[in-house]
Amino acid sequence: KLHNLVQELKGNIRVFCRVRPALENHGVEDSAAKLGFPDVEAEGKELTVLGPETKSALGNVTASTHAFSFDKVFGPVASNSDVFDEIAQLVQSALDGYNVCIFCYGQTGSGKTFTMSSPGDGMIPRAVAQIWEEKERLASKGWTYELTGQFVEVYNETLNDLLGNPEDLDKKKLEIRHDAARSRTTVENANEEPLDSPDRVHEMLASAVKNRSVAATKSNERSSRSHSVFMLRLKGVNSQTGERCEGVLNLVDLAGSERVKNSGVEGARLKETQNINRSLSCLGDVIAALGSQGSGKDGKEAFIPYRNSKLTYLLQYSLGGNSKTLMFVMVSPMQDHLGETLTSLKFATKVH
Ligand code: ADP
Ligand code: MG
Repeated sequence: KLHNLVQELKGNIRVFCRVRPALENHGVEDSAAKLGFPDVEAEGKELTVLGPETKSALGNVTASTHAFSFDKVFGPVASNSDVFDEIAQLVQSALDGYNVCIFCYGQTGSGKTFTMSSPGDGMIPRAVAQIWEEKERLASKGWTYELTGQFVEVYNETLNDLLGNPEDLDKKKLEIRHDAARSRTTVENANEEPLDSPDRVHEMLASAVKNRSVAATKSNERSSRSHSVFMLRLKGVNSQTGERCEGVLNLVDLAGSERVKNSGVEGARLKETQNINRSLSCLGDVIAALGSQGSGKDGKEAFIPYRNSKLTYLLQYSLGGNSKTLMFVMVSPMQDHLGETLTSLKFATKVH
């Protein structure tokens, strides 16, 4: 209860940072480049990044330092299990009837998919396992839950069903349907699968991954150019008390945040790049606007620009209001990635 109170006072937006380890056997460039971080503790709240080295007139070499602070910082030695421990409570809130959104933001290669979707170990499989455990525990108190899932991709400001026929990808027209009275959103024309066992969820995730790789043959590195959104809906009813609750857990693996320069890029690729840049900055704007409206005690509601992108429109009822949001900003420890790392950390600071 004290925890809940603290949460309320702070608002419902939290930002965690995760620094992935240097990848020993994953390409020469990773092990050869110098780390941009002096010492990153396994867990803490502060992160210091060393800027590029400069040489003074007298020949002294110095590096600027940039300090950041987040709700939590995970260093390279933190495991997915350590990370999940810090979000378990948020997953629990979805069973309690909250709308929850968890995002992974960062440049391509920073560890978004590793964190979100590692088979058996990432946040999605762990969240699913926890929900099933809790579901069983709550059954003894009279609760039964009906779980369903949709899994969509936002690519070039268009929605695609990752659970549909791969042939239909980029062809079938999907619509976002908002039910304002219930603060619910569904994607019309996208499959909604009943999730009656954790295995069913894992099958579903595997088929979504396959769909994305089919699409990747059409457009290179599709998964880093699109946002994937797994929406797990939980409807509970208590046979003893008659209570009902309805929550949703949205797990979002965002498109790579790297700034591709517009110059030299043409046609489809240019449009794609502009759409990614726009939708990520729009997400930042929405979260920043929600954060700055404070506790809203004066009764005035700030204008939140949900409609400026497909992603924020889709997640409208899971961002703000009574919902809970967690943003992971993922960064690489390599000196070569320093520019993107600082850009990502600045983005995260803006929404914090
Ligand atoms: P992204 O989805 O952001 O493009 P990935 O999750 O695919 O990045 O990660 C890039 C590479 O780094 C992959 O080979 C992945 O296995 C590895 N990796 C990422 N984070 C970690 C980590 N915390 N521990 C070990 N390997 C990691
Ligand atoms: Mg990825």
